[in-house]
Amino acid sequence: MARIAIMSCQKIKDASCIGCIKCFKAMDLKEGEFSRYADNIDVIAMSDCGDCPGLVMPKLALVKDVADHYGRDFDTVHIGTCIVKAVQTAACPINLEKLAGMIENVMGKQVVIGTHSY
Ligand code: SF4
Ligand code: SF4
Repeated sequence: MARIAIMSCQKIKDASCIGCIKCFKAMDLKEGEFSRYADNIDVIAMSDCGDCPGLVMPKLALVKDVADHYGRDFDTVHIGTCIVKAVQTAACPINLEKLAGMIENVMGKQVVIGTHSY
């Protein structure tokens, strides 16, 4: 079982990317960045950047604390395609590689940049 958390762009999530349907479809069909998982995917958490590039790590730390409290640890963090698109097309200042490195080094989690490819 792949236990994952997804971090999204607060401006895009459920605004122009309604209901997170794209990520749920990709998870179901094992497409995009979810094609790497042979096992079932257990979505432990879906959270967002808090509308600020500087809040991603604190938000994720809070997600981890709550997940630990409820005995729902996750192994991998996906940085949503929404964040990737925000960086690539909307001048979002998040440094994707730096963020991935911080998550890996500070939290000891695996990181995948991206989710669906629709
Ligand atoms: S543009 Fe960047 S900082 Fe702003 S809400 Fe989206 S991911 Fe967060
Ligand atoms: S890319 Fe995924 S997590 Fe981000 S808003 Fe779209 S469906 Fe939701």
